[in-house]
Amino acid sequence: MAARRRKRNARAWRTGRRTIALAVWAVLLAGIVYGLYLFGRGHPEDLPWTKLDLAQPVGLFTRGKLVDLNDDYPQCRILMDRAGVAFEPAPAIAAEAGQCGYANGVRLLEAGARTTPFHPRSPPVQCQVAAAIALWEWHVVQPAARRHMKTSLAGYDQLGTYNCRRMYGRADGAWSEHATANAIDISGFRFADGRRVTLLQDWNGTGPDAAAKAAFLREVRDGACDLFATVLSPDYNAAHADHFHLDQADRGAMRGGACR
Ligand SMILES: [Zn+2]
Repeated sequence: MAARRRKRNARAWRTGRRTIALAVWAVLLAGIVYGLYLFGRGHPEDLPWTKLDLAQPVGLFTRGKLVDLNDDYPQCRILMDRAGVAFEPAPAIAAEAGQCGYANGVRLLEAGARTTPFHPRSPPVQCQVAAAIALWEWHVVQPAARRHMKTSLAGYDQLGTYNCRRMYGRADGAWSEHATANAIDISGFRFADGRRVTLLQDWNGTGPDAAAKAAFLREVRDGACDLFATVLSPDYNAAHADHFHLDQADRGAMRGGACR
């Protein structure tokens, strides 16, 4: 009796070990295949240790590297220059109160090698937000405009960047990323053929091109999530029914993004 149980236990132990070994091999193999895939893509931004290059395609680590530019204004300006982003430095804003103000602002320009047109004029934002806007336009917004609207982007409508306030304008609680111009609220898009898309009217619109406009807005929202630490859309809450809130909040080493 006891001998049979011992034999059964030994068999169970061997089967268990074989399962664990198989699982380890499966994980290793998946890792190798994924590594080969990344290597094959040849995107430096898929690797955590390469230096950010704004001229490269967006990769797995682009967003975290953009957030890191928060600590390196000179490097951010060098990268923007190198990639041909048209911009000018914006004057520093001294702290009005609490956590407000910034020293690394830039204004995207409407004339230059790679322009980023705002209506009526580009507001100052921290450099890492501007860099993300440029990448968003090249890799996400323009392709989405061509795909869904059959035209090209001509400009953005925005509701503001710098605003010395706490989140949702409350009297206490966490400071908004707007308090340091580390955020921008985008309320709509203008196209070369004269059409416009606004979040308020077209997120769940019913008029002409409603499906194309809704698809365009969702595609640019989803694409923003690879470039901005925080993306809040009408899907998040009623406070965001009329704009995308995009910011580069630094959440530390894990770099978790918020995409809603
Ligand atoms: Zn906002």
